[in-house]
Amino acid sequence: MLEELKKRVYDQNISLVSHGLVVLTWGNVSARDAETGLIVIKPSGVAYNTMKAEDMVVVDANGEVVEGHWRPSSDLPTHLYLYKQYPSLGGIVHTHSAYATAFAQSGRGIPAYGTTHADAFYGDVPCSRPLTNEEIDEAYEWNTGKVIAESVTDVEAIPAMLVKNHGVFTWGATPEKAVENAVTVEEVAKMALFTERLNPGAPKIEQHLLDKHYFRKHGKNAYYGQK
Ligand code: 13P
Repeated sequence: MLEELKKRVYDQNISLVSHGLVVLTWGNVSARDAETGLIVIKPSGVAYNTMKAEDMVVVDANGEVVEGHWRPSSDLPTHLYLYKQYPSLGGIVHTHSAYATAFAQSGRGIPAYGTTHADAFYGDVPCSRPLTNEEIDEAYEWNTGKVIAESVTDVEAIPAMLVKNHGVFTWGATPEKAVENAVTVEEVAKMALFTERLNPGAPKIEQHLLDKHYFRKHGKNAYYGQK
């Protein structure tokens, strides 16, 4: 079932490794099938170099396994919460990519310093509040989704979020787009860190230039790329 989507989800999980965003088994990609609403996600803790497309797990919106011989990613409830909250999402990515996670561990969002950031994100990438002990004990991964949603202002305009002390979640209309956002968030985190290193008082990008770059690629007047 959903063999084509399983292959896409598998490919995108593998691409996290080739993009240098994941070491060991520290990440996951899922996708939602628009027709059935079923979700395909990476199995938990299975080594990427032995994983195959048929190892992807298919679950329903409540997380019940519909098909698959492995346990789904431990972060599945976070993905489920976000899919439930935002019907436009078709793909979600989680990584512990180092630069973005360094911001998350510092409890800081990633400031929009330049046009690389503005091309993808319409403003700073926020960092969530910490989870309370109760939230950690009761339904940790589901509540991670909740704290993400608390800080999301516009799910399309800023398709990324840092979770305090944890890592990165990104999303998009497709799993491929969600991975692209994960690549971008890591790269802009790296640039932001170097920017602050070189100039601790560096101002953020001017709103006018941020608008120019964001809307060059997004919305009805976008003109970047090919028709
Ligand atoms: P899974 O292998 O269960 O997806 O976990 C990866 C991870 O990054 C945990 O935060």
